[in-house]
Amino acid sequence: MVLAETNNLLVKNNSTMRKDGAQNTKIVATVGPACNTYEKLLELVKAGVDVFRLNFSHGTHADHLQVIEHIQTINETYNLHIGILADLQGPKLRVGKIKDNALPLDAGDIITLVNEEVLGTREKIYMSYESFAEDCEVGERILMDDGKLVFDVAETNKKDTVKLRCLHGGLLSSNKGVNLPDTNIKQPSLTEKDLDDLDFILTQPVNWIALSFVRTRDDVEDLKRRVEERGHPAKVMAKIEKPEAVKNIRKIVKAANGIMIARGDLGVEMPMERLPITQKEIVQICMQFSRPVIVATQMMDSMIKNPSPTRAEITDVANAVLDGADAVMLSGETSVGDHPPLVVQAMTRIIDEAEKHYWPHIETKRPRAANSARTFQNDVICFNACRVAEEIGAKGIVGMTVSGYTAFKVSSFRPKARIFIFSDQMHILNTMNLLWGVQCFFYDRFTSTDETIQDCTDILKNSGFVKVDDILINTASMPMHKRFRTNMLKVTVVE
Ligand code: PEP
Repeated sequence: MVLAETNNLLVKNNSTMRKDGAQNTKIVATVGPACNTYEKLLELVKAGVDVFRLNFSHGTHADHLQVIEHIQTINETYNLHIGILADLQGPKLRVGKIKDNALPLDAGDIITLVNEEVLGTREKIYMSYESFAEDCEVGERILMDDGKLVFDVAETNKKDTVKLRCLHGGLLSSNKGVNLPDTNIKQPSLTEKDLDDLDFILTQPVNWIALSFVRTRDDVEDLKRRVEERGHPAKVMAKIEKPEAVKNIRKIVKAANGIMIARGDLGVEMPMERLPITQKEIVQICMQFSRPVIVATQMMDSMIKNPSPTRAEITDVANAVLDGADAVMLSGETSVGDHPPLVVQAMTRIIDEAEKHYWPHIETKRPRAANSARTFQNDVICFNACRVAEEIGAKGIVGMTVSGYTAFKVSSFRPKARIFIFSDQMHILNTMNLLWGVQCFFYDRFTSTDETIQDCTDILKNSGFVKVDDILINTASMPMHKRFRTNMLKVTVVE
């Protein structure tokens, strides 16, 4: 692994361990029993993982702690900045245990959902949502087991009992998920379990916290407030998996630090044919507001069992890249699948190839600096850094950041040049590893602008990212000690 020593500075270099150089589109992999040892996590990093997702729907705090420690050891040993995303379960609704774990249902059958924890039969089935009877209305659609079973509400006593009419039958088994696409759910987006998980997460060096089943920007702001109150630097990611969130998308994107298009639940709750275009629209809005966006779920689903993806999956990953997503995500493929390293290798190959054909797809989608933004003057510097880089054929754009602002901004303009970001904030470096095209470097000798630019150039040269005569565009903030936002642009020719 590259460990460059320049002017007695120890340089941490986050280029992934792929030999073929960095990719712009990042890979997020969910951790589970199939990959949670140090060796297996390292293998996935070598195959191209940039961020690990800890899914708090599964596993104990002790399990997650062990994984966090492994990731930290990998980062320290190999001078990497692999990020950690903690994904809160949120108010996921489920039926309870079903007698003999199988209840066959046909169209026309009536079942009864209740609040008490009974062993489920045709007469009574427990549903984990206290005020379901109160919140639902006759005629609303109810889906179970990822939409395989479809019902509508035949009757509710508005207290504790709801009768459902089966519209599309199948076999209902224990603990299956329930989706209520039409119901105005009044439950808070953070459950008691989430608050307990959050208590644990906020003691850990987690970079991103994902909030499930977000409906409005208030949900996001509530979590942000809780994180800030504890003085934790984690950023908040809103998972878009409800039609209500799609309706409020611009406000949610503005309120959140990042977005996950959680296509599993979203694809069940909204008309499925709307999913591809919704994905494209959300990616575009995220680029416009400089928020990283992950396209998630079922990207390589068949590889949970098979050693290679289907043609449709290959196309899905490539299309997410061409849409402009910051990252693509693996769920069951790495957490419980039979071949986690093969999946990541396959994803890496698909991204590599798609990125060769990236520009005609992305050119017209790239945003400009918005003159309504509070940071307009600084945004213009970042935007023009990308533009100048393109016009003079620069190899890279070099930014220095404390808050991450320059990285989020420059990345959102999707420049053709590479993005090299330097910071003395280890936590923010790991956070930025999710961002499209961003390569992070630890640097803590901010003296004068001239010296720092020279140091950064030397570091990039000595670690093989640039060579003599390459051009770099430096963005910086002057005077350096005031730590303003980016307010300067410089062209450097590597000597
Ligand atoms: C999804 O629904 O697509 C998703 C990512 O959420 P989860 O895996 O938490 O259900």
